[in-house]
Amino acid sequence: MEIKLEQSEVVLEQTRQLSSSTGEFRFVRVDGKNVEFRPGQFFRFVFKDNQGEFERSYSLCNQVMDVPYLDLLISKVESGRATELLFASEQGLTAHVTGPYGRLLVPEPLPKRLFMVATSVGIAPYIPMLTRLSPALKSKQVEVHFLYGTREHNEFVFGDVLEKYSEDHPDFHLSVCYSRVMPDEAREFEYQGYVQARLKNLDPDPKTDRVLLCGNPHMVDETYDWLKETGFGVKHVTREKYVFAKETRSKSRTSLTDEHKKLIAEKMKKYQS
Ligand SMILES: Cc1cc2nc3c(=O)[nH]c(=O)nc-3n(C[C@H](O)[C@H](O)[C@H](O)COP(=O)(O)OP(=O)(O)OC[C@H]3O[C@@H](n4cnc5c(N)ncnc54)[C@H](O)[C@@H]3O)c2cc1C
Repeated sequence: MEIKLEQSEVVLEQTRQLSSSTGEFRFVRVDGKNVEFRPGQFFRFVFKDNQGEFERSYSLCNQVMDVPYLDLLISKVESGRATELLFASEQGLTAHVTGPYGRLLVPEPLPKRLFMVATSVGIAPYIPMLTRLSPALKSKQVEVHFLYGTREHNEFVFGDVLEKYSEDHPDFHLSVCYSRVMPDEAREFEYQGYVQARLKNLDPDPKTDRVLLCGNPHMVDETYDWLKETGFGVKHVTREKYVFAKETRSKSRTSLTDEHKKLIAEKMKKYQS
């Protein structure tokens, strides 16, 4: 079922540094309503800094559904406008959000094997999918290969969540691929190299399998080109590229109602007290 596009005002409630380059940011809806989205979707955020308003897209990495907050996993980009605003902010930063958007969803019907491939913060949209996939994994309706590419062990975020999930779901197979530095004592799911190489070794089959690709546009394009050579088409592969924003001004923003202004003022008072 399609979820209606909604606009809402949100306020930053908490932040958590996950690695030197990555943070988790929780924005709460000021109207207290639950955030409606399907696991894998993203929202457009309009922030305001000293140069004015600008828009950036972020996938939700919520581990819990039906809650009034949006959890984001964000990596720092040098001289990035959103990076500078977000990583310098604590509680109280406000934004206007629109969503949900995106077609990176759990395929229906489920395939024999589902390959979830991501680099860096491209794993964000897969986190809410884990809850959705749990019953199907437990009842052996699907086998999932989760391929996560990052530069080094320090940047392996959500490691505790993914390792616990692997233990609880024998048909969930985690592969972490380090493109730069391997840990001194690598575990059985840790590999040297790129996710593309690991995917090739797992020999996906277009007749029975489906692939989700998310993150670095170069990885997404390169992997998709290879998948096409092996017989996969647009129906078998869903891609989400974390491309940089070209335009910084929001076109779709509606002005705040008095009600929203009042709610934001109340939330801000809470954080300032
Ligand atoms: C559908 C979608 C979902 C997204 N979801 C997420 C998400 O969940 N988490 C997340 O962290 N990001 C996500 N992004 C990317 C995000 O929207 C921003 O582009 C990113 O946070 C950088 O914004 P910024 O304002 O800090 O940098 P900008 O001010 O936009 O960029 C500053 C400079 O850095 C360059 N640059 C921008 N991004 C990168 C990069 N990644 N690597 C190298 N150079 C770069 C730009 O070309 C520019 O020169 C998503 C993008 C899309 C399209």
